Amino acid sequence: MGQLTMRDVRKSFGTSEVIKGVSLDIDHGEFVVFVGPSGCGKSTLLRMIAGLEEITSGEVMIDGAVVNNLAPVERGISMVFQSYALYPHMSVYENIAFPLRVAKMSKADMDAKVKRASAILQLDERLQHKPGQLSGGQRQRVAIGRAIVRDPSVFLFDEPLSNLDAALRADMRVELSRLHHDLDATMVYVTHDQVEAMTMADRIVVLDGGYISQVGSPLELYHKPKNLFVAGFIGNPKMNFQTVTCKSITEHGVSVELSNGTALTVPVSTADHKGADLVGQTLTLGIRPEHIVAEGGDIQLAGVPSVVERLGIHTVVYSSLEGDASQFMSVLEGTAPVQVGQKTHFGINATDCHLFGPDGLAFERQVALTTVELPSLNVE
Ligand code: ADP
Ligand code: MG
Repeated sequence: MGQLTMRDVRKSFGTSEVIKGVSLDIDHGEFVVFVGPSGCGKSTLLRMIAGLEEITSGEVMIDGAVVNNLAPVERGISMVFQSYALYPHMSVYENIAFPLRVAKMSKADMDAKVKRASAILQLDERLQHKPGQLSGGQRQRVAIGRAIVRDPSVFLFDEPLSNLDAALRADMRVELSRLHHDLDATMVYVTHDQVEAMTMADRIVVLDGGYISQVGSPLELYHKPKNLFVAGFIGNPKMNFQTVTCKSITEHGVSVELSNGTALTVPVSTADHKGADLVGQTLTLGIRPEHIVAEGGDIQLAGVPSVVERLGIHTVVYSSLEGDASQFMSVLEGTAPVQVGQKTHFGINATDCHLFGPDGLAFERQVALTTVELPSLNVE
């Protein structure tokens, strides 16, 4: 129960194709997050699964059965939106019970389901309140309660936390992860926020202009982004990109020269880029801000900080590179002795670097998979 499959799913509005062939298998119990910038097709794809948007071509299957032509209520799914869509004149109890009343469930069964959902969501004390008497987070929990009572095999969420303030969003992320664990249900969650994706997902699907750019666990996407788009989208602050020139290919990797003349050999495989005469080509070097070090490193770069943000545990430094004035960000220790306008030396280790070809595709990094794939727990 709760297995979802998409086979070459496409969607056009008039002549404009917005979902351009998506194939994906989601297992029972998985928490899958669709993430990508605004307009990339996340909501459309989710609405096609829900049955709220016609499927132009391809197939959506739930538990092995094609549901393309089934109405939303026949698909065994529940959807929670950004706007809570609660009935203001009804109590919390009545709002949660609403779909069961529509389905003409007996009063005793309905009562048991509402009590169970309200206990899971810690709304027991609020059942007689009206939505107007609740906080934003509580209202969103009522909307989730209304989804839970239907016992769906798949939960669909479309940016359910976007209307909440930052602190509440962080709390709700934890609650949703807990809920997923408690219900053992399949959840598909749409967001433009990579932090929500990284913190809650078993697997992240990065969408870019109607295509799947990459699918992987949060750590796979962080350590092994397949292309510039995913590399720039996943991670906060964003990965730094520098234009470099390929000097040679050796058994140790790809040797490149930075615009300021610094040479570096990045330990990556060129196996996927066979045939391309890389030497002399312009490549993109990627380095995450948290991998720039204040001391040591395989190469050193001089930069002049223009903004220094002291966050307590970390210091975020925006600098311009000496030599070509390109901008880069670094995350240093909280007490790092950097100052605006004062030339500073930064270090980079070759093993932390990412390298992308002229086509924007990543060269395979030599990251040991053990650091990427966590061992699965055998809990009785
Ligand atoms: P996201 O949720 O990722 O922000 P959407 O799925 O809402 O993106 O939209 C994807 C693209 O489809 C956008 O370019 C949007 O303008 C277009 N679109 C969405 N719904 C409609 C519609 N009903 N009619 C025409 N175009 C639409
Ligand atoms: Mg959307």
